[in-house]
Amino acid sequence: MRSLRPNKVKSRKSAKAAAVKAFNRYIVLRDKRCVTCDKTEHLTCSHLISVTAGDKLRFTEINAHCQCRGCNFKHEYKPEDYTRWFLQHYGVDEYEQLCLLKKEIRKYTTEDFRTIATRYKLECEALSE
Ligand SMILES: [Zn+2]
Repeated sequence: MRSLRPNKVKSRKSAKAAAVKAFNRYIVLRDKRCVTCDKTEHLTCSHLISVTAGDKLRFTEINAHCQCRGCNFKHEYKPEDYTRWFLQHYGVDEYEQLCLLKKEIRKYTTEDFRTIATRYKLECEALSE
């Protein structure tokens, strides 16, 4: 198997960074407030199920909601609040669907990241109007 050339690795990294930025901004614009404490300041995109299991979870809208910095940080060691909120809003079936995505290891291509970035930049523009 051939390895990726350094410039290819670099463009993959920047494509991913652009996708993450556009997606996260979209989630904040969509929700507008922290889903667990209702604050409207220092908003971040917070993933219910950790994205360490793969990019699929990172870019699944139902796995991402707006939380303030404090709640996002708290979610790391006390996931109950956000999980309870999710279950109340979406139900246990959706939660189980998300858990299944953990097993779906999917590696996104540079092209996938570019598509995601373009899509969410447009979504952000639509929401900012
Ligand atoms: Zn909060």
